[in-house]
Amino acid sequence: MKLFGLREEFGKTVPKDSVLYSAGDAADMFYVVMRGRVVIDRPVWGPSTAAPGDVFGEIEVFSAKPRTGTATAADDCQLLAFNKDTAIKLAEATPSFALVVIRKSSERVYTAEDMATTGTKPSGPKVKFDRTKPAAAAAEPEGPQVGPVTTVEYANSMFKKDQKCPNCRTTFAGWSVRSNAINLTGRDDDFMNHYSGVDPNWYAVWVCPSCNLAAYADDFSKMQSFQIARVKPKLEAAKKADPRRFMFQYYRDLDLVLRSYQLALPFYDGVRGGAEKTAGLYHRMAWVERTRGNAEEEKGWLAKAREFYEKAFTTSDAGKQGVLWAYLIAELDMRIGKYKDAVKWFGTAAQQPDFKEQPLLEKMVRDRWSEAGDLSKTSAE
Ligand SMILES: [Zn+2]
Repeated sequence: MKLFGLREEFGKTVPKDSVLYSAGDAADMFYVVMRGRVVIDRPVWGPSTAAPGDVFGEIEVFSAKPRTGTATAADDCQLLAFNKDTAIKLAEATPSFALVVIRKSSERVYTAEDMATTGTKPSGPKVKFDRTKPAAAAAEPEGPQVGPVTTVEYANSMFKKDQKCPNCRTTFAGWSVRSNAINLTGRDDDFMNHYSGVDPNWYAVWVCPSCNLAAYADDFSKMQSFQIARVKPKLEAAKKADPRRFMFQYYRDLDLVLRSYQLALPFYDGVRGGAEKTAGLYHRMAWVERTRGNAEEEKGWLAKAREFYEKAFTTSDAGKQGVLWAYLIAELDMRIGKYKDAVKWFGTAAQQPDFKEQPLLEKMVRDRWSEAGDLSKTSAE
């Protein structure tokens, strides 16, 4: 959606606790939330929260009615602000903009009709435990809370797609990074990519914020009921192992990124092709710790990743992947300090039938093999 390129022209920064409009005010502007949350409190409906990606205030603008409620910034917010004229021009130039506004408005009207029919207040945010001030309001027998992260520098680079959790039926936002916002600046020998700005790996795994079901984005929507049944008890065990409450509604800091990988492990435990995916999750955990400069934690996750790359190598017909996995096993051995094992596995990589059909990998194997050879002679290992 082109909406995210509009910050220069329509951007508006709003500090926490400031009031955007009050009930009875003339309605000239409507808003799209980029960062932070805005609470809209209507006397009849009660409060609802507009979160990153949401539109609010548009109904009064287009129906030329005064404001029905009060909008207050719950965080320091970055918004896009439009009036009727700019919105119409924008809709002509960018039909997807009009579609977003129409869809968001329709959701709200639907909720209002629902309320009128059932006599209940609208459910508000769809995530059950999403409160305006969750940390202060909730009793905390389950330990400290991590997140929610409602503000990130790279908010402009993100888009979200509503997902329905196949386990608990909660609708939540699956966030992804826009492909044209990914700026690769370098790559380590174990394929850890470095980016300026957001790292797409941080959002590789989707997590249901309500039940914490997690998997790589591609696998999440394809989950079958027998898989969910198998995952559930393991997910409970993972929650017991770390009783902190991780709030996954919005963006992620590195603690939430790390947790997203841990929560996806049960889904790939013991399934066909699961060893490779599991290795990838542990490998990404190591990258998080490398980013944070925690060398010991990084080595711990690399050792787990290495274990599962070897499982993938030995238990499946590796085919073309054989060279890659043997290379990764050797490379991780090197990073853990097991140089003799590294030499052996680089040798295994070179013995794979299609070694010479992958010239880039072949060169990497040869370069690192000789480095590992030198290190194995001089180290005390
Ligand atoms: Zn769920």
